[in-house]
Amino acid sequence: MNPGKVTLVGAGPGDPDLLTLKAVKAIQAATVLLVDDLVGQDIVALAAPGTRIIHVGKRGGCKSTPQAFIEKLMVMAAREGENVVRLKGGDPLIFGRGGEEIAHLRAEGVEVQVINGITAGLAAATALGVALTHREQAHGVVFVTGHARSGSDGPDWRALAAAVRDARLTLVIYMGVGGAERIRQELLSALPAATPVAVVQRASLPDQRQAVTTLGELHATIAREQLASPAVIVVGDVISGVAAAIGASAQFRAA
Ligand code: SAH
Repeated sequence: MNPGKVTLVGAGPGDPDLLTLKAVKAIQAATVLLVDDLVGQDIVALAAPGTRIIHVGKRGGCKSTPQAFIEKLMVMAAREGENVVRLKGGDPLIFGRGGEEIAHLRAEGVEVQVINGITAGLAAATALGVALTHREQAHGVVFVTGHARSGSDGPDWRALAAAVRDARLTLVIYMGVGGAERIRQELLSALPAATPVAVVQRASLPDQRQAVTTLGELHATIAREQLASPAVIVVGDVISGVAAAIGASAQFRAA
């Protein structure tokens, strides 16, 4: 029997047209497909008939599948000779636990490959029509989680705020909508209330929504516009072009 393998595949931010050709080929070749909750049905439908499809996400009324169980499942299936594809939203190695999965699979002697996907932060910037590293406004970009894992304090927002100000960085916050009020308060320690901020929900999908506001108004804007997960918050001067174009606090829909 051929030894099986596992491929971690990035499904991108949602629009199936944003999949790489390599991702589509891997999905079509899979015999077992493990699907995360942020991956849409139109992408799962690319799998060949007869593929074993296992949803391991938290949405849709089901409880989240424990990470250890997912890792065991991948190892077992690969040892049975299956071509396992682990389909994750965005890029598998950006806040996707891909690093943990690679380490586990390697430790178990299972061959593992990774196919990149477009991460949500990039899709969000494109939805807004901004460059995260516009050279007149930013020297670089930080992808940061707004959600601390249990038992950890999470990011040092004050240090990040100072870095945005002093090193001229753009902040792209994943999983930040729920904790936006605390993030706002902490960032205000070093950034002016007028710092431009954008929130993009479901970037690249037909029901994408976004709002452009200021740091001072972040929480109020999220509440008023009823923005919710999955959404990315972008903080920094690169947003000022959008803010100027449509007026602060305005909400619009991408073409
Ligand atoms: N690996 C993924 C991120 C997983 S963490 C990636 O690279 O994109 C899940 C978080 O990603 C969500 O809470 C949200 O902050 C963000 N996210 C995922 N898809 C998104 C989308 N289409 N639009 C906006 N944010 C999204």
